[in-house]
Amino acid sequence: MYRSSFNQNTENNLHGKRNIKKVPFVELFNHRLQGVVSSGSDIERVYVSFWEAGSIDFYCSTNNNRPCGGLRGYPCNHLQALLEEAIAQYGIEQVLRFLKVPGDLSQMHGINDIIARKGAVKKEAASEVFSRFLNYLGYLELAPSNQPLPEMSWFV
Ligand SMILES: [Zn+2]
Repeated sequence: MYRSSFNQNTENNLHGKRNIKKVPFVELFNHRLQGVVSSGSDIERVYVSFWEAGSIDFYCSTNNNRPCGGLRGYPCNHLQALLEEAIAQYGIEQVLRFLKVPGDLSQMHGINDIIARKGAVKKEAASEVFSRFLNYLGYLELAPSNQPLPEMSWFV
């Protein structure tokens, strides 16, 4: 269900720096930078990834709650893509502040500066992230309109 609406509708909104095909959903929510990342190899699969504010702990699993195979004590490609897209969407400064990355923020310019300060793997179910993603996709089913939906600001 999410895939058909994703393919048909989000490409129309694909502009600017955000790669919605790779990372269809990213948000700063409830002390987490979290989102949904497409699998590089299997179009049927998506990953749910998060970074926790303060600890910079992280985790990545499939939408069926299976641990990500790329997560071996180090942030996998999905977690890295999530950071990249969060920075594209919110800007590096907002991401650093939200995650409470320690150190001199003016010296930090990209995802490597965040990964260098990473915490530990935090095994925690993130199925809530996926249901939030599906909720957002619900808006894509609405008839096209020129009126902005406030909730859709992550596309801008
Ligand atoms: Zn992963």
